[in-house]
Amino acid sequence: MATDKRGRRKPYTQIGIRRLPCFRCGRKPSVYQWRVCADGNVWRPLCGPCDVAMNAAVLRFMRHPHWKAIMAEYRRKVRENQVVG
Ligand SMILES: [Zn+2]
Repeated sequence: MATDKRGRRKPYTQIGIRRLPCFRCGRKPSVYQWRVCADGNVWRPLCGPCDVAMNAAVLRFMRHPHWKAIMAEYRRKVRENQVVG
């Protein structure tokens, strides 16, 4: 399976991921990483705002009953750099 330059099978290190642009928006630095089964389980780097958007989208899709409260707290943690990617 073809993979984009910004993705790999082993997770990036915290230092390594900051050298890559965000897979979604191209902003630097990436801070977090995601992988999706349908995408070959390849780790993809994401910046903070895109990671927040991905978390919100997944929680809404799952119809999590407390997604708004969870996301308010998560946004605060990401803003304060309390979430380790
Ligand atoms: Zn981004």
